[in-house]
Amino acid sequence: MDKNKDNSFLNRYYQEYKLRDRIRLSLILSMVLYPSFLILDAIVTPSRLRAFLIIRLVVILINATQLFSLRFLKTSKSLLNMGMSLLVIDACGISLMVFLMGGFASFYYQGLTLVIMVMMVILPFSFKEAAITMSLAWATYFIPSLFIINGQSAALRAVARLFNLSEEIQGWRIAVNNLFFLTSIIIIAIIASSVMDNVRRRELRSRIKLEETTARLQESNVKLKSLDELKTQFFSNVNHELRTPLTLILAPLKAVLEGRMGKLSPTHKDTLETMQRNGYKLLKLISNLLDLNKLEEGRMRLRLKNVNLVDFIPPLLAAVKPLADQRQVRLYCQNPPHPVDLTLDPDQFEKVVFNLLSNALKFTSKGGKITIYVEEKDRTVTMTVEDTGIGIPEDMLETIFDRFSQVDGSKSRAQAGTGIGLALAREIVLVHKGSIRAESELGRGSRFIVEMLKGEEHFDDEVLDRRSEDMPIGLRRRLTDTNEPHVRDIVSDFRRRQLVDLEKVDIESGRVDKAKIHDALILCIDDNPEVLKLMKMLLADDYDLELVSSAEKGLAFLKAKNPDLVLCDVMMPGMDGHAFARAVKKDESLKHIPVILVTARTGAEMLAEGMQAGADDYISKPFDSTELKARIRGQLRLRQMEAELSLVNRNLRMRTSDLVDQQKSLFLSTVKSLASAIDAKDGYTSHHSTRVTEFTVKIAKKMGISGKELGDLELAALLHDVGKIAVPESVLNKPGKLTDEEFELIKDHPVRGESILSPVVELKEIARIVRSHHERYDGTGYPDKLKGRVIPLGSRIMAIADTYDSITSERPYRRPASHRFAVKEIIGCSGTQFDPEVVAHFLETASTFVPNQGQDQEEEAKKA
Ligand code: ADP
Repeated sequence: MDKNKDNSFLNRYYQEYKLRDRIRLSLILSMVLYPSFLILDAIVTPSRLRAFLIIRLVVILINATQLFSLRFLKTSKSLLNMGMSLLVIDACGISLMVFLMGGFASFYYQGLTLVIMVMMVILPFSFKEAAITMSLAWATYFIPSLFIINGQSAALRAVARLFNLSEEIQGWRIAVNNLFFLTSIIIIAIIASSVMDNVRRRELRSRIKLEETTARLQESNVKLKSLDELKTQFFSNVNHELRTPLTLILAPLKAVLEGRMGKLSPTHKDTLETMQRNGYKLLKLISNLLDLNKLEEGRMRLRLKNVNLVDFIPPLLAAVKPLADQRQVRLYCQNPPHPVDLTLDPDQFEKVVFNLLSNALKFTSKGGKITIYVEEKDRTVTMTVEDTGIGIPEDMLETIFDRFSQVDGSKSRAQAGTGIGLALAREIVLVHKGSIRAESELGRGSRFIVEMLKGEEHFDDEVLDRRSEDMPIGLRRRLTDTNEPHVRDIVSDFRRRQLVDLEKVDIESGRVDKAKIHDALILCIDDNPEVLKLMKMLLADDYDLELVSSAEKGLAFLKAKNPDLVLCDVMMPGMDGHAFARAVKKDESLKHIPVILVTARTGAEMLAEGMQAGADDYISKPFDSTELKARIRGQLRLRQMEAELSLVNRNLRMRTSDLVDQQKSLFLSTVKSLASAIDAKDGYTSHHSTRVTEFTVKIAKKMGISGKELGDLELAALLHDVGKIAVPESVLNKPGKLTDEEFELIKDHPVRGESILSPVVELKEIARIVRSHHERYDGTGYPDKLKGRVIPLGSRIMAIADTYDSITSERPYRRPASHRFAVKEIIGCSGTQFDPEVVAHFLETASTFVPNQGQDQEEEAKKA
């Protein structure tokens, strides 16, 4: 593929640079120059004239043969070969003469220089070709001359003698000089050939590229032309296919509205009027687009009439008057007191006036003024529409006449429009050979000046309506299509139709309540009252509605009333739908409210933007009522399910924690009853646990323990002997000395106590205290031989309380001892059995302890 490309490029290259002609020229030049140098031979070396004549003749003969065979060469390669051989042959001839004249020392080497220079300029050699041929030429000079060097030629000697030099030295110098020059020239010629070759190739390449681009352009031009034809065809079809159904909607609608098909209820009438108004809007838009297209393609034909502008303007103003009144804008007209005649197409010119007037009305606020001036000059008439509206920025004064151009191109434009009104007006004025321009002061008002030529000579012949034959066939067919309904026939006030987009629709904002099937409150936000009206019509039966005309108002309502869902338009003046959705979703107290955005634009980008803003759903206009309702239902249902789910979750959490509490208290009461069972089982130690608890708490409080820690300790004290449940009663109550086994059995009770309590997570700490209540401060206790502060504090306290009660109460094996004795015993064991610090606190509170024996004695006394 690439090789083919290369080959075709080379062929083109040699063709472009006329290789054949150049070789022919070189041959001819060689055949002319070779004999002409005989003159030089005759002067410089008359003795060798004959020999040189023969040499020159031979070369010319070869050249002639080459010239003859040139016509038989077909490929560029063979042509190139011939070029190369030509140079070598010419060089051979000269070198032979140089050789005969003494080799290196001969001045005839300059003949070689001449040949090389001429060929370099004429023949388009590449680097490789130049290098081969020139090296060969050099060799024809260099090799034969080598043989003469030793013999010191006669010529060398003669030259040396002439300059009075030592022959040997001078001969060498001249030879080196000649060789040096010739070699340098050859090197330069090779480089120059290659540079020139590159330049030529680059030039050709860009030429080829240019040709390719031109070809492509031509191709697209052809395509564009056919597309253009298609567009024309399409527009003429649109004319029929869109306008016809639209007219067929509007015509019966008009009949229905006029009451020809029975009386209408106010709601029906209202709805049908909305349909009619919007039908007109569409019709106007299509007509404008078609007109503009016709004008731009030069297909607009004018039906000229003579019109007196003074009579022409007032009916147009009258048509605008009701709308101007509605907007509280005053209308004025200033005419000269005499008729002002103009030749124009009244239907078209009317569009210009209406467009200017409707813009003036659109952009002038309440209390403003619009004036039309008609002025006559020598050869022209001007009509000026002046308003006191918002004005136009200076840099936009030109561009507003471009198609689709609007001053505030943002999506939040406060005034509806398409940006074709002024483009159409300008085109119409231009076919009339008039001019239109705008002047304005921002914030003060605008002035549109239309200047028309008087007379009719200036009209181009081809724009005049003669039902011209050069129309596309499709259009011609349409023109003769008699079935097409005429707009004028179905629009009662044709002129008012031009201003349909200015009509004010009143929709009372606020709450709409009816008997609902769902009692959800939906907030609808749209700057277009007709859309709000439509929503009311579609949704009022099912939901409570709040209708507002801006996102700002919507946000305020949202904060005050917390509705269940929001339907919000995207493109609105001021805050748009996306900004609204963002504001709602950013607010913690509002973000749960679903927001559905409604937009006329479609496309993935728009959707992504909406979703990014936090909208919950998206619906595009025109929406279908079933779809709208389904989306609303979906969102409401989702929210309801979410709310239900979170309620269920909360209940579940509460129930779980109740259950845990119940379980805990159940366990505790079981364990407590166990503890009292033990106290009961151990006849002698009755109420032991209760007393130990009392003492423990007293000491702990002295130590500053409180809160949960104190509670845990209290429980631990109450349950400290729960492990004794596993010790047989006979052992517990044995009056005599215990055997080793029996003692081991008793010593096991702290561990058992722990294992009874530890299954309940909340009792883990209590279990640890219980396990260690028989540990001793010096590390000789049981079960773990813990030492010092490693023993839990609670256990250290309990150990003292336990010992105090044991000493002061009766045991099967001994009588109860006195309080003083017990205190003394405990002091004696401080630092060995007990923690000295706890002992100190015990001593502070011990006086409040009531020993068991006292109680028992009292009880016995009572019994007695
Ligand atoms: P549109 O349908 O948007 O009104 P036009 O071509 O009629 O299209 O107008 C183009 C733009 O020029 C308008 O959108 C508006 O920004 C600006 N414009 C036209 N007339 C006036 C005016 N009387 N006062 C202020 N601005 C105007």
